Amino acid sequence: MILISMLVLGGLGLVFGLFLTFSAKKFHVERDPRIEKILEVLPMANCGGCGAPGCESFAEGVVAGKYPVNGCVVGGQEVADKIAAILGVEAEAVVPKIAVVQCLGDRKSAKRIAEYIGIKTCKALDLVGGDKGCVYGCLGLGDCVDACPFDAMYMGENGLPIVIEDKCTGCGECVRACPRGIMTLVPKDAPIYLGCVSPERGKDVSDVCSRGCIGCSLCSRVVPEGNITMNGYLPVIHYENVKNPEDLKPAVERCPTKTFVVRTLEKVNV
Ligand code: SF4
Ligand code: SF4
Repeated sequence: MILISMLVLGGLGLVFGLFLTFSAKKFHVERDPRIEKILEVLPMANCGGCGAPGCESFAEGVVAGKYPVNGCVVGGQEVADKIAAILGVEAEAVVPKIAVVQCLGDRKSAKRIAEYIGIKTCKALDLVGGDKGCVYGCLGLGDCVDACPFDAMYMGENGLPIVIEDKCTGCGECVRACPRGIMTLVPKDAPIYLGCVSPERGKDVSDVCSRGCIGCSLCSRVVPEGNITMNGYLPVIHYENVKNPEDLKPAVERCPTKTFVVRTLEKVNV
């Protein structure tokens, strides 16, 4: 009985082995050699910033035309140029980006309405509506920090995350991790950004946070036309239209709630 079982199993193994060998030969697809060459120039951070699940998929996708030649945010222009040379095409310019935290509702400024004792993640806290009066504000449990593959973030003592700009590659993992859409990528040379994402009207915002944007639109009226426009109660900065970063200074100075965060303008003493 044991002998028969062994023979049957051995026979089956042989048949399946032969079948697999035959299939591998019959359906073998030649891998495009350019994929290997692209993999050699990629930083292999596997961060997902390009939109692909990893560098290997990105390399295959670029060759297949699914991802742009300049899609690797970590590699920047240098890698885009190398990939373009491998594929024999022109590389488009890469605009380096950096992550910013669009909320200023720290422990002092934002009204707290509950004490949360559940699972310590922003996603879990968001599911129960958060613990702040502002339902758009940062939940402060650091899902973004945990998601950053480059250790470019940490939680500040005020309960808000902080981006270490020198380390941030603009991969966007923190943006994808934040359940409240507070993490945003802006051009690396953006002089200012808005520290609020609440679309509510002024009174509703100021009732729950002293640093939230009240939608007064003053900022949009004191800068050159097209630099800042209003989208409902929130201003939108059109970085591509800003000719001189100093043109944005009046917006920062006139904002009654000081909701703009100054980055490179510090160098010109706002
Ligand atoms: S902070 Fe980290 S996760 Fe966010 S864009 Fe920068 S490197 Fe990527
Ligand atoms: S920015 Fe978003 S992910 Fe990061 S701590 Fe705040 S709510 Fe959480």
